[in-house]
Amino acid sequence: MTVIYDRVALIGLGLIASSMAHAMRQYGLVGEIVGHAKSAETRKIALDIGLCDRVCDTAALAVQGADLVVLCVPVGVMGDLAAEIAPHLAPGATLTDVGSVKGAVVEAVAPHMPSGVQFIPGHPIAGTEHSGPRSGFATLFQNRWWLLTPLDGADVAATARLRALCEGMGAHVDEMDVAHHDLVLAVTSHTPHLIAYTMVGVAEHMRRVSNSEVIKYSAGGFRDLTRIAASDPVMWRDVFLTNKDAVLDILGRFTEELFVLQRAIRMGDGEQLHAYFTRTRAIRRGIIEAGQDTAAPDFGRATVGGGEGKT
Ligand code: NAP
Repeated sequence: MTVIYDRVALIGLGLIASSMAHAMRQYGLVGEIVGHAKSAETRKIALDIGLCDRVCDTAALAVQGADLVVLCVPVGVMGDLAAEIAPHLAPGATLTDVGSVKGAVVEAVAPHMPSGVQFIPGHPIAGTEHSGPRSGFATLFQNRWWLLTPLDGADVAATARLRALCEGMGAHVDEMDVAHHDLVLAVTSHTPHLIAYTMVGVAEHMRRVSNSEVIKYSAGGFRDLTRIAASDPVMWRDVFLTNKDAVLDILGRFTEELFVLQRAIRMGDGEQLHAYFTRTRAIRRGIIEAGQDTAAPDFGRATVGGGEGKT
């Protein structure tokens, strides 16, 4: 592989940044990796495990001289960080982010961008329920989608270069409009997470079902919801606070569908339930055919590593 960027600065050193660091190094995509995270503890771990070539105490120091800067922090802090690093970005540098919501990030980050810096928002549709600098692995992005949402007038060469980096890490890249991204992700990721959080909350509140029974008999579907509901609370709080309109739109539709099924159950309308579940099964088959999951029994648990596609 050829080196695509000489120096990449990763701001935030959690799951996504550490996976990027492993992948960029393994596939020889960058010269030097510089990192920064908020806590001294994370910065020390990153140094100890050799995640970055250098770790800086401030984001401002980390971005100096970098030709690519990647914001890998929760969506809610991206604006403040952009303001902090803006005066220190190298002329000609590209700034991207990996946030799960795009509209709010663009609103918070774009106003701070100096002329001569290309801001190209992005979002890898890959993740696990784990976080922190030790949770990353080089293959997280393999065969996953990485969405770029270039703004009006974005530099074509800078976008192509970022695309090459994502593809070098094994991802497929698509470009789309910011608002469309937030609607699509509300359907495929954000609302499903909210439903998982809710169902796990329901089980927690059910006094007639003991905790030990919930754990013991969880393989009936609940277990898979608990994996999703174990996702990072800060990240997901920020997703719902910042993709409010799209999530509320999809939740409204979800509630309508739920009432349709509730009525079918009440009326004993087996034909309607069967037809509904037949349509939804076709969607699952489509996902497997598209290579975005495995058809192995039990969700491929015995054979697949940590990286189920997410967010
Ligand atoms: P993570 O593992 O929880 O790591 C977040 C990192 O951000 C930590 O290193 C944290 O530092 C750092 N951080 C937080 N506030 C900061 C600040 N003010 N200044 C500097 N560093 C700060 O998170 P992640 O899962 O990698 O997620 C990062 C981003 O990727 C989020 O925007 C999320 O929406 C997006 N994303 C996540 C997934 C997923 O499945 N996890 C998938 C796609 C996209 P400390 O450790 O010192 O607190």
